[in-house]
Amino acid sequence: MSEYKIPEKGIDKALLLEQLKTYGSDDKDWKNGKVWSLVYHLDDEHSDFMKTVYTSYFSENGLNPVAFKSLKRFEHETVRMTLNMLHGGPKSVGNMTSGGTGSITIAIKCYRDYFLSKRKLIQGVYKFIQPEMILPASAHPAFRKAAQYFGVKVVEAPLDKNFRVDVKAVKRLINLNTMLIVGSAPCYPYGVIDPIEDLGRLAKKKNIPLHVDACVGGFILPFVEALGYPIPAFDFRVDGVTSMSADIHKYGYAAKGASLILYRSMDIMKHQFFIDESWCGGIYISPSLQGTKPGGAIASAWAALKAIGREGYMTNAKLLMELTQSMVDGINAIDGLEVMGHPEVCLIGFRSSDKRKVNIFVIGDLMEKKGWHIDRQQNPNSLHISLNPTHEFATEEYLKDLKDCVAYAKAHPELKNEGDAAMYGMVAKIPLRGMIKKELMSLMEEMYGPEGKMPDNETQEEKNDIVSKLAKTYIEWAEKLESIFSK
Ligand SMILES: *Cc1c(COP(=O)(O)O)cnc(C)c1O
Repeated sequence: MSEYKIPEKGIDKALLLEQLKTYGSDDKDWKNGKVWSLVYHLDDEHSDFMKTVYTSYFSENGLNPVAFKSLKRFEHETVRMTLNMLHGGPKSVGNMTSGGTGSITIAIKCYRDYFLSKRKLIQGVYKFIQPEMILPASAHPAFRKAAQYFGVKVVEAPLDKNFRVDVKAVKRLINLNTMLIVGSAPCYPYGVIDPIEDLGRLAKKKNIPLHVDACVGGFILPFVEALGYPIPAFDFRVDGVTSMSADIHKYGYAAKGASLILYRSMDIMKHQFFIDESWCGGIYISPSLQGTKPGGAIASAWAALKAIGREGYMTNAKLLMELTQSMVDGINAIDGLEVMGHPEVCLIGFRSSDKRKVNIFVIGDLMEKKGWHIDRQQNPNSLHISLNPTHEFATEEYLKDLKDCVAYAKAHPELKNEGDAAMYGMVAKIPLRGMIKKELMSLMEEMYGPEGKMPDNETQEEKNDIVSKLAKTYIEWAEKLESIFSK
């Protein structure tokens, strides 16, 4: 049994505020520009304003738009402003959700039911006919999560050499059960935009809906485009695009808990609505996943767009594009590293250009020793950065450290057998991904179990233990298979 109990008497608030700080002392210090994901920060003044806005609607609940017309108004105006920016047209519609995952999840449910509504006959045998969606290999995991939740089959389309989805492959994967095609603008791992116009033409021709995931790009691409950068059409201007997701809590700089799901028309969107006309508690209606909806998040989304304005977003986009350019050039200038594809906005994936000389995860380990927070990617192995205004004065130091780390790694080839590099190296060699899943499942059971194991406190050794156990099992399996086949 855990020793945690709600205190008998309330604790002094000053003391609790102190404890809040203590609990946070282990957190990543993102303000120093050493963290390259998770936090989207414009500046302190804007954050303070967002806090004021958030608290002014702290208690209000977007669940009931009749009771809180204010929130309905904020939501409606936020949806309209964004649809305007993304060229949605007069019939376009949408609603706010809690985040990118919320937007994507409800869209998948919506398309599944839209698909089934068009094929009334097969509704009865739905168990046997599984709707399918075609997903670029680089699409966000939220799509796979939603597919798992809602019984949709994922069909993965490979990427081309520039890390965009291969449209010819998408075309080949279409069949009678295809309920949706997905493209990203841009994808998170590499910052490149899938060929939305080609996907749009294909979707239109085959009469299949097309969702563009602009969760990370929705509130930056339009401004980058307005600055004159060559951005291929990615929004509702492309005929075949039927819906888009866009997170205001990323480059829109709203408080966390704010995203939008947007549709070309109500024909499709209506399939996401839920109505319980018979509940004892009264008739209940709900447009998306959330019941209770935090008023603060809705108000902050509206206020962010209004306070920053097109001019503010463009100034910020200009800075981020300049930082992106210097990072891309800087990384490509380091012998042994290469940027993957051509990032259209401020998200960059980079890898080793000569695997014999440079192991990219060794670079990750060395950079972490220098105090940088490193995001590692796989399939193919690479590192990731997404840029924020907090990085304005960090990029130069990052590039210098990166260069030093590459030189050091070249001189110390043995490093690939140590630390995270060794672990990732081994993981990559395990062909049975199900085994990794099983181990991670037990790790999650521990994390969310009664002891609430802290992932951060997990020592390097423990982590490596998991992997060596995996590798051992793998070797046992390989030996078993070998003995079977040699008979
Ligand atoms: C962040 C992101 C998501 C998921 O958004 P959350 O707000 O983290 O749920 C989906 N797609 C892309 C491309 C993203 O970058």
